[in-house]
Amino acid sequence: MNVKDIGEFGLIDATSKFFEDLVPEGCLGIGDDCAVIPAGGDKFMVITTDMLVEDVHFLRDKISAQDLGYKSAAVNLSDVAAMGAVPHSLFLSVSFPANLSKEWYAEFVRGIKEHQVPLLGGDTTNSKTGKITINIVAVGCVDKNNIKLRKGARVGDCIYVTSALGDSAGGLQAILNSKEKHLSNLVAQHSRPRPHLAEGAKLGKSSLVSAMIDISDGLASDLRHILKASNVGAVIELSSIPISEELKISPWDAEKLALTGGEDYCLLFTASEQVDFDFPCYKVGYITERNIGNIEWQTNGQVVELDYIGYRHF
Ligand code: ADP
Ligand code: MG
Repeated sequence: MNVKDIGEFGLIDATSKFFEDLVPEGCLGIGDDCAVIPAGGDKFMVITTDMLVEDVHFLRDKISAQDLGYKSAAVNLSDVAAMGAVPHSLFLSVSFPANLSKEWYAEFVRGIKEHQVPLLGGDTTNSKTGKITINIVAVGCVDKNNIKLRKGARVGDCIYVTSALGDSAGGLQAILNSKEKHLSNLVAQHSRPRPHLAEGAKLGKSSLVSAMIDISDGLASDLRHILKASNVGAVIELSSIPISEELKISPWDAEKLALTGGEDYCLLFTASEQVDFDFPCYKVGYITERNIGNIEWQTNGQVVELDYIGYRHF
């Protein structure tokens, strides 16, 4: 048997169980967007790490060095936002070939600095394969009462997302199909996803918000993480999925990209009542007690059979 047979999430679950006995009291380990570690009193640290591997997560000739730096930090800061936390610091580990230009590297770190979060350390190594690998660790801070986990969703809660979905996936299609380069908003959404930090902090402070995750692998996949962790099911109303005009007029299947494309890096949350914040929140469905761990797709209240899953590495 190899790793593909057990799958990305099977592998993570097995690792989590293996280390379960060593997780200190009061800490939350593997399984949410960040680990949670007590930092004294009511303060908690959240810590996350995400890797960007050349030819898996990015093509070097299709993204500027500055955008790649911006995105490498953004995907981690998005996980900090998903906990209801605010960023504290970043750590950067990189592996690159000796012939990488120093201007490229300077632009890359300029992209990271755009987020205005201090970089407090990292590691630098030579890449003998010639490919670039980037790993960032993001640390955040949050008050105990504001921590939002994947496991808090309750039957009857409304399900929201904080932006239109699928633009990043459309942007990737536009980048890969050079004829469609004019879809600039989609490309920008793919190359420079904005972490929803202000939104995450406000949602963290709201007692109405019961569970939260960021969308990295697509709503079809990330909502299931909330459903499994919370032991509930969901109905998603397809006509309520927010899709941008640019994606609608693109040549691709907008609905499929919106639900499975991933890399949106907006927030997906559940709330016990309708919410009204000073930023966009789109209600896309509700939590049910049937179908535990699964999504029932509906169009205008009628069930539709879809086999949407979302992105998986293995
Ligand atoms: P996200 O998309 O929010 O970054 P992931 O799907 O990458 O989350 O990871 C889910 C959970 O599994 C997180 O808690 C993460 O820290 C943990 N995780 C992922 N890969 C590993 C690994 N190789 N070893 C330990 N924990 C891991
Ligand atoms: Mg996440």
